[in-house]
Amino acid sequence: MRKAFITGISGQDGSYLAEFLLSKNYEVHGLVRLVAFENPDERFSRISHLLADKKIILHHGEVTDLATIWRLISQIKPDEIYHLAAQSQIKVSFEDEFGTFRTNTDSTHYLLAAIKDLNPDTKFYFAATSEMFGRVKDSPQNENTPFNPVSPYAVSKLVSYYLTRMYREDYKIFACSGILFNHESPRRGFEFVTRKITSTAVRIKLGLEKELKLGRLEARRDWGFAGDYVEAMWLMLQQVQPEDFVIGSGETHTIQELVEIVFGALDLDWRKYVVIDPAFVRSPEKIEIKADITKAKTKLCWSPKIQFKELVRMMVKEDLKRVR
Ligand code: NAP
Repeated sequence: MRKAFITGISGQDGSYLAEFLLSKNYEVHGLVRLVAFENPDERFSRISHLLADKKIILHHGEVTDLATIWRLISQIKPDEIYHLAAQSQIKVSFEDEFGTFRTNTDSTHYLLAAIKDLNPDTKFYFAATSEMFGRVKDSPQNENTPFNPVSPYAVSKLVSYYLTRMYREDYKIFACSGILFNHESPRRGFEFVTRKITSTAVRIKLGLEKELKLGRLEARRDWGFAGDYVEAMWLMLQQVQPEDFVIGSGETHTIQELVEIVFGALDLDWRKYVVIDPAFVRSPEKIEIKADITKAKTKLCWSPKIQFKELVRMMVKEDLKRVR
């Protein structure tokens, strides 16, 4: 039985990845913060079904604590590590730059150093992001597109991306970065725009809210389903050679398209409820952020299964169930 260790197991991706690895018969270990045990109903809501059946083994600690990382890697001796824990909100990264760097960068360094010194055969996946492309000059973006990050979050991820590459090239660790474009699901955090739209629209439908405040409706994103993307993470660690991969849907949709599908699914006219709030308006990207997934399709034989409309409807359905 292969052993996997997931940091950020209680997050959106961590929960889908844990399910996926269990289906492949892995022994799944996860790192969660001690503070999460104070409010397990909320903090473990995405993995409660796995905990109830005692399917996963949780360890508590901070990814920013070197001693914890050292102890867990030497105890568990995982075959594969998926490093997903992060301060993953761009806005927060401007408010707490140092905290974001500690969580997103030191953690990666500690894990890689622990692998090198304790268990050099452990394979390592790092959760990189399309935000590293930032202000791009070319579209679509692939593994050769130059990075030009424009937020502390993106810079912190880029440092970890280079650390992962350095440990791969200099210390011959099997270490890969997945450069993932936005991926959503019914388990997405409420602070992200897709979930804000689905959950607020549902509350409007049920008479609990009156309006939905948004920024530019013309903004375009490459959105996919998180459940599909975790399979790509696993496939990267099953390759003969470690490499980095861009993962996305390869198509973009506007916020307005998303809004239309959401309100349409609820039988509401979105024009009556959507308000443009200057506080949410970001300057438009001159060049489209869109994934070129040719390499993932060719080498991993991976492509997304769930289409945009289906994904959005899944999220609305889940929010309706939850709010009711
Ligand atoms: P998420 O839902 O925000 O989950 C992040 C996880 O990290 C949570 O379980 C969180 O635990 C944990 N965490 C944060 N700080 C920690 C710390 N100091 N010690 C231990 N655990 C800590 O994020 P996600 O959407 O699943 O994304 C997974 C990874 O992929 C992240 O690294 C993210 O930056 C990256 N990524 C995501 C996307 C996307 O569109 N979803 C795209 C590209 C890259 P708490 O619940 O206790 O905070």
